[in-house]
Amino acid sequence: MKKFSQKLIIFALMLGLTCSLISCGTLPKRSASSSSAIESTESTALPVPYSEPQTPRAVLDTPVSGASGAANQSQSGSNTSGSSGSRRSNSQPRKIKVCIDPGHYHGASELTGEDLYDYEEAYATLQIGQELARILKEDYGIECYLTRTGDSISINGYTDDQIDQQNIALRGKYAADADLFVSLHTNANGENANGQPQMSQPIAINKPIIIANTNACGSPEVINMCNAIGTNIAKVYNEVGLATVDYFNEADPNNIVDWSESLNDGLNIAGTVCKRVDSSGDFYGVLRGAADVGVPGIIIEHGFHTVPEFRYSAMYGNLLKMLAEADAEGIAKYAGF
Ligand SMILES: [Zn+2]
Repeated sequence: MKKFSQKLIIFALMLGLTCSLISCGTLPKRSASSSSAIESTESTALPVPYSEPQTPRAVLDTPVSGASGAANQSQSGSNTSGSSGSRRSNSQPRKIKVCIDPGHYHGASELTGEDLYDYEEAYATLQIGQELARILKEDYGIECYLTRTGDSISINGYTDDQIDQQNIALRGKYAADADLFVSLHTNANGENANGQPQMSQPIAINKPIIIANTNACGSPEVINMCNAIGTNIAKVYNEVGLATVDYFNEADPNNIVDWSESLNDGLNIAGTVCKRVDSSGDFYGVLRGAADVGVPGIIIEHGFHTVPEFRYSAMYGNLLKMLAEADAEGIAKYAGF
């Protein structure tokens, strides 16, 4: 999450910016004169050139069969019948359709430089999203589609920054044909949080935080799904050494806490499910868009890319695949598997 001046927040809200730019893990752009990243959402910021990392990005690059993106949703069809998923239960799971939203788009933010490991949130969320779609379809026969399947996102004639800076609710509204909207992100903290540079945070800050929209908060089943996803992610971090707290603080569906900076940036505290609303409804545009079309929506802030070890594990290890598995098992549980 980011710290902004009140003025910037108001300005951003006027532009319809939401979690992707205001507070949920937009990657700061790297200063040309320093290896440390700086925050910038100003329109004058120079685009950061894309640079391919040396060796990573091979883990999840296989195409997703059967999962469609915004550009070809009409071809998605039903995947819920005839599939021979390996994790089918003998019970009768509910048929649900999931709209998966890999946060951001390529080129919006990227990190290059020593110990930044070329981490790009847009890349990470796409890898998680594609793997999540593959698991849901192939292992559980759950129908799903993505808001983007490539570097770019296009909805209703709008593309990339036209969406994220002016019409970001379109991402959530794209779930109109779904039963569930899941927006995938990695998190960031404020500058100098915990007395450390923004991009050099300790592992103790790392935790999953799931933000539920008003529709999701009205459904104990969805909140329990969030609890399952968060618990799964916390287990992953405990397993790979990216956590100091080994559990997820499961939410009471009847008492969802508000998002807070102390929750986001605090050290040695468990992640949880929270909500964030203001006088106009859901604070984050993606969640507001889903609410506008009557769909329960959640943002999964998987963990903190401001932790160097997180970036390394994401870009050079199997972390993204493990996070996708954690998400998938929680969603499958929600569907009755
Ligand atoms: Zn984000």
